[in-house]
Amino acid sequence: MMMDCIFCKIIAGGIPSERVLEDDGFVAIRDIHPKSAIHVLVMPREHVRSLDEVAGWHDDGTGQRLLEFVVRVAAVLGIRESGYRVITNTGPDSGQEVDHLHLHIMGGERLGDFH
Ligand code: AMP
Ligand code: ZN
Repeated sequence: MMMDCIFCKIIAGGIPSERVLEDDGFVAIRDIHPKSAIHVLVMPREHVRSLDEVAGWHDDGTGQRLLEFVVRVAAVLGIRESGYRVITNTGPDSGQEVDHLHLHIMGGERLGDFH
């Protein structure tokens, strides 16, 4: 756990969050400032700075489990059929605010363009 990481604190339970789903590897919470009707963040329990660091996961199956977890979250949210968008900001130009890998799951309405 990184002491100065807000998502590590959320995962540890030190900061409250509305949890949608969790398992031993990942946690899904509602975004505190939703930008679509449904806006959930999926994050690994392990502190990984961004997608860029996932290169270090090698081929131990963590990436596959992360993507399968995202689909499980979509099912729990009831948007698997209606569709959803998955975004992860990586590095300065993306505007990444929290340096703990998280995938935004957005849906529950007809989504607009990226910008
Ligand atoms: P990003 O810009 O991709 O790093 O996204 C960070 C996201 O974290 C933003 O959508 C914020 O609204 C969200 N966020 C920040 N603090 C919290 C919090 N305490 N609980 C839930 N979501 C948060
Ligand atoms: Zn962290």
